[in-house]
Amino acid sequence: MAVSLRRFLGVSMLLVIALFAGVSAWAAGGRTHMEMGQYAWHLFLDAQSGEMLPGLDGLLKSDAEKRAYYTGCISPDWGYPTGDRDAGEACHWRPFHEQYLAFLKEKFPPPWDEAAQCQIAFFLGCLTHGVTDVAWQDTPGIQPPSMMDAIAEWDRQSPNAVDTVFDLYTYAACSLDVMLVGRHYWPYETIESVLQRCNLKYDRNKLLRGTNLMSLAYNAGTLGGVVAAFPYRNTYPIGRQRYVDYYNGGLINCGAAASMWIKCFYARLNSGWYFQRMPVYNWKPSGYEPYLGVADATLFSSLPDRNTGLEPVLTLTGDRADDRCATLIRADLSSVPPGATFKTAHLWLYFAERMGQPQTADKVIEAFRVNRPWGEGGGASDDVSGTTGATAKTGDATWKAATKDGASWTMPGCEAVPADREGTAEGRLVVQPTDGVNRWMSLDITAAVRFWVDHPGRNHGLLLRESDASHAQPGVLLFLSSEAHKCQSEGFCGGRRMAWRPSIVISQ
Ligand SMILES: [Zn+2]
Repeated sequence: MAVSLRRFLGVSMLLVIALFAGVSAWAAGGRTHMEMGQYAWHLFLDAQSGEMLPGLDGLLKSDAEKRAYYTGCISPDWGYPTGDRDAGEACHWRPFHEQYLAFLKEKFPPPWDEAAQCQIAFFLGCLTHGVTDVAWQDTPGIQPPSMMDAIAEWDRQSPNAVDTVFDLYTYAACSLDVMLVGRHYWPYETIESVLQRCNLKYDRNKLLRGTNLMSLAYNAGTLGGVVAAFPYRNTYPIGRQRYVDYYNGGLINCGAAASMWIKCFYARLNSGWYFQRMPVYNWKPSGYEPYLGVADATLFSSLPDRNTGLEPVLTLTGDRADDRCATLIRADLSSVPPGATFKTAHLWLYFAERMGQPQTADKVIEAFRVNRPWGEGGGASDDVSGTTGATAKTGDATWKAATKDGASWTMPGCEAVPADREGTAEGRLVVQPTDGVNRWMSLDITAAVRFWVDHPGRNHGLLLRESDASHAQPGVLLFLSSEAHKCQSEGFCGGRRMAWRPSIVISQ
């Protein structure tokens, strides 16, 4: 009995592994992709995402919607097990996402009933896949190493085995928040319509077989993953502990990246726009087309020749001393067509930390439209907590100049009205002493965005400036910038901060 049981376990284990080796491509495996999708949802698309993008927080309420989302997370890999590689590969990337978006907007305009919500959830899952493949795989030999290479290096194993083994680990170590075995959701009609819109050649039978094989792998993995992962328990002692929080491509890092794509396309499904600087990696497949159009930098009167363009932190208020600070922020809105109508536009900033003396009164930050071009620059001192930047180079913004060796501000700090900026505030942010950190805060900038959409040549962004009365009060308030990524200097920090970079949300 014992022998036949062992043989049974041995054979089923081999079957599971064989199935996996066939289904997983050269990047993260299916269950791993679902787990990254789960991290995106639970860590980054929390309650506040519904304030930012109404309805997003309620999209995965039912089991059917969750099943659609997680099936979407693995969907682009359907072409690998059956050899329809080109069509499957195309499903990973931006041109496919754009056609998919156009199709859904046509066939499933909001408000959505539950069947439509499942279609939307599947698409959002599909969106998470390409970017997480890029983050997990990245380029060999470049620092910091990708998740896959880091595991291979720590545990002295071949990188080629990492995908399959860690997919099995994910089955063994994590659980999905919905029962998916035997209940995948494949919207074949939609997938085929989008493939046709993209003019992609594909074989319908291979699409059916590939998706069925992926469902089968999931079912087998759920039932046999614990057993199949067992032999590797001692071969990957470090990787096993670190693949969740490793910065560059661990599960948290991938979840953060995935959440940015979800927000961007969810806004567009609702005929709005979402702008946030997305992550770039060393590996640049041609279909990975991230939006990189947000620029920001803090100017300090006490450091008049320094540039802070690539610091991860923005300093929005000073501490009663003589020195002042002010932050420039600008977003490329050229994808909003001139004359486009919308109801509101908000700038969302992530409140990260208080410094200096304790805050005792309200701090008030006002936003003014900037009237001349400025250079974000590359000044950086520390990729976790840097604020003070580096000596400015030609073209960089500083307290003294909009572009060093080019145009000086008419008054230092972008203060001259109207040569440097407008005199009437577009929006204001009030931070009370009792406000907690680690949360989003927003400014209504509807009028400014409307002006820029109608006058695209005059979009030089905003100056976020503390009011004079507020500056007389103590308290330094720090917000995350468009370069935020790591939250600790060591590599095992999760890299979650990318998801909290400044965002501009335009809504109907
Ligand atoms: Zn893939």
